[in-house]
Amino acid sequence: MKTYISPWPADMAAPSFPRRLSILGATGSIGLSALKVVSEHPDLFTIVALGAGRNVQRLAELAATWRPSHLGIADQPAADELAGLLPAGYAPEIHVGEQGSCELASLDEADVILSSIVGAAGFPPTLAAARAGKIIALANKESLVLGGHIIRRVCRRSGAVVLPVDSEHNAIFQSLAGHDAEDVRHLVLTASGGPFRTRDKAFLQQVTPDQALNHPNWSMGAKISIDSATLMNKGLEVIEACHLYGLPPQAVKVVVHPQSIVHSLVEYVDGSLIGHLGTPNMMIPIAHCLCYPKRVSLPLKTLSLAEAGSLTFEEPKQDLFPCLRLAFEAFAASKSHPIVLNAANEVAVALFLQEKIPFLRIPELIEQALEAHEAVDVEEPEHILEIDARCRRNLLERLAGGSNVRC
Ligand code: MG
Repeated sequence: MKTYISPWPADMAAPSFPRRLSILGATGSIGLSALKVVSEHPDLFTIVALGAGRNVQRLAELAATWRPSHLGIADQPAADELAGLLPAGYAPEIHVGEQGSCELASLDEADVILSSIVGAAGFPPTLAAARAGKIIALANKESLVLGGHIIRRVCRRSGAVVLPVDSEHNAIFQSLAGHDAEDVRHLVLTASGGPFRTRDKAFLQQVTPDQALNHPNWSMGAKISIDSATLMNKGLEVIEACHLYGLPPQAVKVVVHPQSIVHSLVEYVDGSLIGHLGTPNMMIPIAHCLCYPKRVSLPLKTLSLAEAGSLTFEEPKQDLFPCLRLAFEAFAASKSHPIVLNAANEVAVALFLQEKIPFLRIPELIEQALEAHEAVDVEEPEHILEIDARCRRNLLERLAGGSNVRC
C-alpha cells in the first residue's frame, strides 16, 4: 500500500480545542516541558490527568497548580503520601501503579495522551492508549522498540494515532508532509554524537556518570543522557523510525551533527534532502504534537543561522560506540532481539549510574545478552513483558556470579 507516510491519517479530522490532555511522566523532563507549553496557551488545553513515578512532592505541586481530576503514582504508600499533600477541598481520583498508568492512558475524558514515562515501563500505558483509540503524543520510544508491530496493529483496529515527540522523528514527520511514500529514499537521523564524540578509547575507559550526564546541547533525563553518550539512543531511534514510518532499517541513515540544529531529514528519490531546523528545545516537537496540525508560539529564542555559524556533519564512530550497530543488528535479527537490546541497556545504564560498571562495559553487556538470546515469537504484549523481565533477571544473576547467561 503506497500512501502518505505520516502518522496522521489523511482522512482523520483533528480534535477541536481545548484539547483534554493526560500526561504520563508529568514530573520528568518531557512532562514539565509539556506543562510549559500548556502554560503558554492555557485556552487550548484542559489537563485531565497527571501521572508520575515516585516524585510525590513534585506531582503534588503540579496537581495543586493544574487541578486535574485524575492523578497517578507508583504505589499505595506514595498515593497515601500524595493525598496528604493536596490542598484542602481538592480530591482527585488517585490511580496506582502500572494499572493506574494504563487507566490514565485510556480515560474517556482525555483526547490526547502524552506518553513520557521513561523506559520499558512506558509500554503498557502506551498500549492502553492505543487500545482506547487515543491520539498518542509519544515520547517513550521504548514502546515502539519493544513492540512497534503490536502498537501499529492495535492502532489500526482502534483508530488511535501515534505522533512522535522524539525530536528526530518529529522532524521527519514535518519533513514528510505533502509527500508520497514511494518518493522517499532514506530517512536521515541526526545525532549530536554525545559528550564523548571527540574522545578516544583510553578516555572512555575512565569516564564517570557525571561526565556522561553532561550533554552538550540537550537538557534531558539521566537515562537518555547516558544513551546519548553511548549512541544507544540513536540505535533505539533507528528502530523507532522503522516502526513509525513502516520502513526497513536499510532505509534509515544516521549522521552525526554536533550542533543539533538540523533535527533530521528525509532524502527523496530526486536527491532532495528536506529537513527540519530549530533551536534544540523539546517544547517545539511537544507543541507540534499536542496542537497538530496547528502551530503555536513558544517562548523560545528563534534560531539565528548567522549566530549558529557553521553546521557540520560526520560519520558516527561505530568502533568506539558499538551500540548503534547493535541496534541495527537486533532489529534485523528478530522481533524479540530489540526487547533484549533494550532490557540489557536499561540494566547496564542503571549499573553505570550506580558506578558498579565502567562506561565501556555497557555495550559489552548488551552484545553478550544479544548473542545469548534465541529468537522467540512476540505476537502478544505478554510476550514482551516476559522476555524483558527474563533478560533483566538473567543479566543481573550473571553479573552476580550466577551461571545462567541466556536472555
Ligand atoms: Mg531523539
